Amino acid sequence: MAGEPQSDCLFCKIVSGAIPATVVRETETTVAFRDINPQAPTHVLVIPKVHYPDGASLAVAEPGIAADVLREAGQIAADEKIEEYGYRIVFNTGAGAGQTVFHAHAHVLGGRGLQWPPG
Ligand code: AMP
Ligand code: ZN
Repeated sequence: MAGEPQSDCLFCKIVSGAIPATVVRETETTVAFRDINPQAPTHVLVIPKVHYPDGASLAVAEPGIAADVLREAGQIAADEKIEEYGYRIVFNTGAGAGQTVFHAHAHVLGGRGLQWPPG
């Protein structure tokens, strides 16, 4: 069923606790944890507990939870004190854009200058 945990999904395993992660925040609908291969001084991933392959499909099926993910991303930026300087929320969508884990996730990146346009 849509949104159900997938046995072959890394982030579903982080949600269930089967794989450990450095969790920084958790809500009823989301988990936020540090990226294992950080690309900036702050690099946190915010994921919904439900499984959808990317952010846009999450928003179609569960708009309230998509909003929760964005709200949490903003809260992480405040907690990490990167809000004032500026930070980036990224949803890589599709392999060609660099998506490697097909469970919706927002990257929260900051703590250094960020180039625009991104590579
Ligand atoms: P993406 O390439 O947009 O799909 O992002 C997937 C992210 O997950 C990458 O930045 C990886 O470094 C990160 N990642 C992969 N495995 C883990 C893990 N076990 N714990 C935390 N982050 C992970
Ligand atoms: Zn999943």
